[in-house]
Amino acid sequence: MIEILTTGGTIDKVYFDAKSSFQVGDSPIAELLKEANLTIVVKVTEVLRKDSLEMTDDDRAQIFQAVAASRSQQLVITHGTDTMVQTGCALQGITEKTVVLTGAMQPARFRATDALFNVAAALTAAQTLPPGIYIAMNGQIFDPRTTRKNVAENRFEAADQ
Ligand code: ASP
Repeated sequence: MIEILTTGGTIDKVYFDAKSSFQVGDSPIAELLKEANLTIVVKVTEVLRKDSLEMTDDDRAQIFQAVAASRSQQLVITHGTDTMVQTGCALQGITEKTVVLTGAMQPARFRATDALFNVAAALTAAQTLPPGIYIAMNGQIFDPRTTRKNVAENRFEAADQ
């Protein structure tokens, strides 16, 4: 069984009319996966519902606890891209599980979204990589300790690039 922990971020955003802006809503991940005809067992658990720019150390401690308490050895965490690297670094104390963080630059509810591609990459990575903390974004697997989000280019890259 693979557990997907949802924490918010753009991947979960919905259009919020009254404000004419987007806000984090119900995670659409479970719904999306229904269409993917998976033959693996996936459990989706909501941990947080936040834009990752608003995440605190306590939130990160809560994510850490959720990973540590999970009965699964393989986890995917959906997360906002802006501070995904920070959370990946905060999870370094988890050494026995394969944990893959992913997210999306465009909400999963959009037709042109990277969400499904990224979640699929993360699910595959979680099943094939040795224990450790990883980021799956832009068709690549990154080590959060040596990675940054290039905000201008809207992509993840090696920190020394
Ligand atoms: N501000 C958003 C977040 O980090 C950006 C994103 O998810 O791409 O939650």
